[in-house]
Amino acid sequence: MAVHNNSWNLSLKAAERHVVGASVSALIRCCGLPKIVTPPGCIAIDPHVHTSFSKCSISQVEQIIMRAVRMGLRAIGIMDHNIVTGAGYAVTCADELKRRKLIPEDFLIIPGTEIACGSGQHIGALFLEEPIPKKQGVDATVQKIHDMGGLAVAVHPYLSSGIGDALFDAPFDAVEIESGSVLRHDAAERAHLLANDDRLGNLAKLGSSDAHHVVALGMCYTVIRTDSVTLESLRSAITQGLSTPHTSGTYVKLRKLAYRLPALR
Ligand SMILES: [Zn+2]
Ligand SMILES: [Zn+2]
Repeated sequence: MAVHNNSWNLSLKAAERHVVGASVSALIRCCGLPKIVTPPGCIAIDPHVHTSFSKCSISQVEQIIMRAVRMGLRAIGIMDHNIVTGAGYAVTCADELKRRKLIPEDFLIIPGTEIACGSGQHIGALFLEEPIPKKQGVDATVQKIHDMGGLAVAVHPYLSSGIGDALFDAPFDAVEIESGSVLRHDAAERAHLLANDDRLGNLAKLGSSDAHHVVALGMCYTVIRTDSVTLESLRSAITQGLSTPHTSGTYVKLRKLAYRLPALR
């Protein structure tokens, strides 16, 4: 009987997840293309985006770049799971779109990846063009990212695939305070509390879509104070703490919708 009950509960949860997935897609489409406007001296970037180079994404690179430009993003970070080939391809694709004058010359792809460390938790890397080994410990992964010149990001820290409070024990460079993949109320609230947590020290605070579908691009994003748009200036601004996490109106509506669903409360 207990097995039957568990199965029923599981199928209810699966059904609810299906409802959430369908509702998310429908709501995002209904809301249309969000337009991101920033004050003078600031730009908006989405530093955590997946492409079809991730097994769980069907987003085509060219579509992602064109949509990013249309919505007002000046740069996107490509963080495909455990590989950097998606980011490399995105750089090539952006160059070709610039050659055809379809996107601005100064639109940037920030190369990166999202590594699964030993216990399966995800760690983001930005400004990294070479692959790094997966299934290493948290400290070893962060150290490797630094050795190869990248910035280590504690992505969606309080999702089950995030590293949680272990982010305080390793020398991360940045943490996602806002993540489009976090709809669970408790995970989102814990991440928001981080914004004022003294233990963060000088960690940069980011907002990212973690988009696995092109329509989710820019759900959450980061505003950066900078006078120029180059990889060096973005990296410098992030490490100086000149980044602020933001949410789109669509994301706020989705959070309200998700809060009504017990599985996501
Ligand atoms: Zn992840
Ligand atoms: Zn991700």
